[in-house]
Amino acid sequence: MHAMVATAVGAALVPERRELPVPGTGQVRLRVEACGVCRTDLHLVDGELPQARLPVIPGHEIVGVVEAVGGGVTAPAPGERVGVPWLGHSCGHCDYCRSGRENLCDTPQFTGCTRDGGYATHVIAEAAFCLPLPAAQFPDPAAAAPLLCAGLIGWRALQAAGPGERLGLYGFGAAAHLLAQVARWQGRRVFAFTRPGDRASQDFARTLGADWAGDSTQAPPQPLDAAILFAPAGELVPRALAAVRKGGRVVCGGIHMSDIPSFPYRLLWEERQLLSVANLTRADGHGFLAAAAAAGVASHVTRYRLEQANEALADLRAGRLQGAAVLVPGAG
Ligand SMILES: [Zn+2]
Ligand SMILES: [Zn+2]
Repeated sequence: MHAMVATAVGAALVPERRELPVPGTGQVRLRVEACGVCRTDLHLVDGELPQARLPVIPGHEIVGVVEAVGGGVTAPAPGERVGVPWLGHSCGHCDYCRSGRENLCDTPQFTGCTRDGGYATHVIAEAAFCLPLPAAQFPDPAAAAPLLCAGLIGWRALQAAGPGERLGLYGFGAAAHLLAQVARWQGRRVFAFTRPGDRASQDFARTLGADWAGDSTQAPPQPLDAAILFAPAGELVPRALAAVRKGGRVVCGGIHMSDIPSFPYRLLWEERQLLSVANLTRADGHGFLAAAAAAGVASHVTRYRLEQANEALADLRAGRLQGAAVLVPGAG
């Protein structure tokens, strides 16, 4: 197999050739068809994820076809297309796992972070943590890949944001471009906030149905019911709190964020709430994929060959792409 490997903090990913891995009990081996490039992968290579274990193959938005199964695996079957998300394993017996919050498991494994991920031609996954991606609903593997983190974390953040109609999205990248479509399908109004002056992203948001798009330094035309922060910029937290109405919620959807500056208590007063979402559950995965199929969510993707992983990361870091970057091992 071929892989792009994170070997040291701050270093470029290194191409490697390895023996084809053999799936153990409860595991499957996938031939990777596509793997999304997530902002979390930048945090990984920047050394901002304390749980990461280098060297590791990044990538947690994996679409692949089951090629081999280990002992005890009854599903998925060889030939089936599945998705592998960030939550690669949970223990099943800690307090969190037993209370429906496996996303907070005490001893989890995270794909492309604490276990090898999908910046590769092949990957080993836990069968029980694979999500079905039937070709009838998800014909294009590259388009399906961003659903597995950008979409899924967005979905969890949307549940946390509550049912309010006016939804603000701070940072209009991979997650927001998917979530905006789901929110519109649910009948909500979307207000998109981008880096100041980023007209291209603001236009992109409008084409996906946003009622309003502007700079993150601007106030929305009307108070928001809730806001979700995808941009990893702590200074957006007080701005988002200022933009939500009494009783409104601000949800932080990223795994890492720069420090939040101090702010006057009046921004939180009147029962505004500030919370984060972490990881995902398999139930989130099933719920979101059903919603995405029903809503006809269309991913805007920029494709890269596996060997171009460093280029994809650089483009994501510089904000040079709209939508999501996806590695396609078979391409070119
Ligand atoms: Zn657990
Ligand atoms: Zn991610």
